[in-house]
Amino acid sequence: MENVAIVWFRNNLRLHDNETVVKAIAKADVIVPVFIIDSTLLATTKMGMRKMGAHRAKFLLEAVTDLATSFEKYGVLLQVFVGDTAEILSNLAKQYQAKAVYAEGYPTYEEQNLQESVETALWKQHVPIVWDEGNTLLHISDLPFPVAQLPNIFTEFRKACEREVRIRPIAATPKQIPSMSLPSTVIPSLLQLGYKPEELNEVEKMPNRQFFIGGETAALAHLDKYLWQSHQIQTYKQTRNQLLGTTYSTRFSPWLALGCLSARQIWHQIKQYEHQVVSNESTYWVIFELYWRDYFSFVARKFGNTLFLKGGIKNQPIANKLFKAGIERWKSGNTGNAFIDANMRELLATGFMSNRGRQNVASYFVKDLKQDWRIGAAYFEEQLLDYDVCSNWGNWNYVAGVGNDPREDRYFNTYKQATMYDTNAEFIKHWLPELTNLPASLAIKPHLLTKEEQNQYGVIVGVNYPKPLVNVY
Ligand code: FAD
Repeated sequence: MENVAIVWFRNNLRLHDNETVVKAIAKADVIVPVFIIDSTLLATTKMGMRKMGAHRAKFLLEAVTDLATSFEKYGVLLQVFVGDTAEILSNLAKQYQAKAVYAEGYPTYEEQNLQESVETALWKQHVPIVWDEGNTLLHISDLPFPVAQLPNIFTEFRKACEREVRIRPIAATPKQIPSMSLPSTVIPSLLQLGYKPEELNEVEKMPNRQFFIGGETAALAHLDKYLWQSHQIQTYKQTRNQLLGTTYSTRFSPWLALGCLSARQIWHQIKQYEHQVVSNESTYWVIFELYWRDYFSFVARKFGNTLFLKGGIKNQPIANKLFKAGIERWKSGNTGNAFIDANMRELLATGFMSNRGRQNVASYFVKDLKQDWRIGAAYFEEQLLDYDVCSNWGNWNYVAGVGNDPREDRYFNTYKQATMYDTNAEFIKHWLPELTNLPASLAIKPHLLTKEEQNQYGVIVGVNYPKPLVNVY
């Protein structure tokens, strides 16, 4: 009898540098590749937010479609399902008499619960799961310390890793993929997943629609362009804090989040670029940022469920008074703080926001609106194309002051930040066209418009642009 292995794809939707696939092919005679949209991903959370908004869902479906197309080139049919992952995998294991399931394992609460339920279901059939890591640059066993002793200061972590860890080579893309006769399955549409027709329209109108296309093909093309064609990587350090356009930072994150692109692939490409073209502060700084991504993943492993608790990793007591209307205005970009609103409208329209923007809107939510940071994090989870459980909840922990870092206060004065990073208010005016006619300083602080100026510029505060929700000085 053939040795059948199921490869359960999760946030590793690629064939390049995919250790899970390589291992399964090496161990089994044939593989059955499977992707499941777990029902919980389509649900509404306790926070009243959807787990996955329409932008994210669209990006995911594109990534799955791309993976299916790649498999077809090997003559293999990716099996796609929607429903209860444990049940589906255990049925498949029975149907194909699988000897093992291969998958990437993740360290966070909900992902671990899912992993446990899958393990339990498969255990009943004596089918083991072979867990792998492939989401981060470094493997846990490569770290210079056990995860339990992960330093609380990022710089210490990074320096030790840079000094002591050799990044592993890339796992080869398979030449052949042995499989068996499998039925065609259908990748569901957004409508079939329960998204509303008007949401589809919004997604289609998304301004960066042509830029962010889910899947490994688009991801590798983007990597190639960012490094080898446009050489934008050479100026990353100087441009990374900008706000407008698509080239100021790498924009690798949405593809990294679904594993359409491997962090190691980026690392090796940058090293090659440094060797063949130029090595400078900017080329290094992209790698520096990838260490941040790894760091948050290991922080999540070290601190477990505390990452999601109100008091965070620090277990810091925080009292909040729920301000529902304020939260809704924050979400829709109508707080009356132009810099915050521009960023929040960008997020709503595109599923993306710059790092500078994220720090500001998160700080505003927590420190100015004084709301429970987990509501903000849950909204990011719904909206962000690049939603990554460790990076999102880890960064929110930091901004809320409940993370593992020793820095106490991360308050961002949003007006100062706007003046510094959007001096001419171009970003604000791009997302808030109602402020186009204002001089930059007034576009940043429209509430300071005098009656005469309001009439002069046609911006009536409280009528066509909201009064500030809270005073920020
Ligand atoms: P670049 O600036 O080009 O950086 C290159 C890569 O480095 C990124 O793609 C990302 O993988 C990594 N990186 C950079 N900064 C960080 C960081 N602070 N933390 C972790 N990794 C980083 N990033 C996510 O990928 N998913 C999230 O859900 C997420 N949520 C965030 C929530 C808040 C409140 C904040 C402040 C930051 C969050 N970030 C998140 C981190 C960061 O904002 C994004 O990774 C970055 O803006 C993505 O754009 P880029 O790919 O052009 O980044």
